[in-house]
Amino acid sequence: SSVPTLTLNNGVAMPQLGFGVWQVPDDEAERAVGSALEAGYRSIDTATVYENERGTGRALGTAGIPREELFITTKLWNSDQGHDTALAAVDASLERLGLDYVDLYLIHWPMPAVDTYTQTWKAFEKILADGRARAIGVSNFHPAHLQRLLDEHGIVPAVNQIELHPRLQQSIPRAYHADHGIVTEAWSPLGQGKDLLDDPQLGTLAQKHGKTVAQVVLRWHLQIGNVAIPKSVTPSRIRENLDVFDFELDAADLATIGGLNTDTRLGADPETMNFLG
Ligand code: NAD
Repeated sequence: SSVPTLTLNNGVAMPQLGFGVWQVPDDEAERAVGSALEAGYRSIDTATVYENERGTGRALGTAGIPREELFITTKLWNSDQGHDTALAAVDASLERLGLDYVDLYLIHWPMPAVDTYTQTWKAFEKILADGRARAIGVSNFHPAHLQRLLDEHGIVPAVNQIELHPRLQQSIPRAYHADHGIVTEAWSPLGQGKDLLDDPQLGTLAQKHGKTVAQVVLRWHLQIGNVAIPKSVTPSRIRENLDVFDFELDAADLATIGGLNTDTRLGADPETMNFLG
C-alpha cells in the first residue's frame, strides 16, 4: 500500500497512518473496519474497553487480507493491570479478535496512583517473548512513567500512544520519545473532529493545497514523524483521511500549525486517570 511505515525499536515496521475505532459499537466497527480495509488501511487501533474487538476481528476475517499485511493494535484495560491478569487479558483479546498474535499491545493508561504498571510491563515482556505480540508499548504515559519502566526493565516500549493534535502538540513527550527510540502515536489526531477543524488558519492552508482541513492536519502529523490513527465511520471520510500522500506542507505551513498549540487536552490527564471500571 501507499502508507509509509516507521521502524519500531525492535525492527518491526508500523504503518504511519492507521484507523481508530474508539466509540464505535461492535456491529458498526465491523462495517467501519471493513470500509477502512477496502480503502487501503492496514493498521487498525482497537482496545478491550472499546468493546469492539469481536467486530474488528470479524471484519479482518472476511476481508481476506494476508495476516502479515495487517498491523493490529489492542490495549490492556486498567482493571486487567497486574502480571497474571495481563497474561490472561491478552489471550482473551486474541480470542475476541480471532488472531494468534497482535502486532502491538499497549498498556492503556499508567494509573500512577494504583501503581501496577511496572509489574504489568513484566507480563508484557513475556507476551512479547511468547510471540503473542510482535511489539509492546504503552499509552498515556508521561515521561516520568516511561522513565520508571526504563529504570526497572529491559525492554523499552516501542510506542507511546498519547493525545496529540495541533492544540496539544506535546513537545516535551515527543522529545523524550525521540531521545529513547520510542515512536509517538497520536490519538485524537483530528482533535476529535471538533472546532479544531473550523480553525481559519487551517482553512487557509487547506485552500492553498486543495485539500481538506482534516487532510492538512493528518499531513502535519506524518511530516513531524507521528503515527496517526484518525477515526470515522463515514466511508467518504475514511477514504479522505487516507488520501494525504499527494501533497506536502512547507516550512511556513508547519510553522503556522506549530503556532496553534494551546496545550488543551480533550481527554483525561494520565496523572489523575485511575479509573478501574
Ligand atoms: P479523531 O481525532 O480521530 O476524530 C474523529 C472524529 O472526527 C470523527 O468521529 C468525526 O466526527 C470527525 N472526522 C473524522 N474524519 C473527518 C474528516 N475527514 N472530516 C471531518 N470530520 C472528520 O478522534 P478519536 O476517535 O478520539 O481518536 C482516534 C483514535 O485514537 C480512536 O478511535 C482510538 O483508536 C484512539 N484513541 C486512543 C485513546 C487512548 O487513550 N489511547 C483515547 C482516544 C482515542
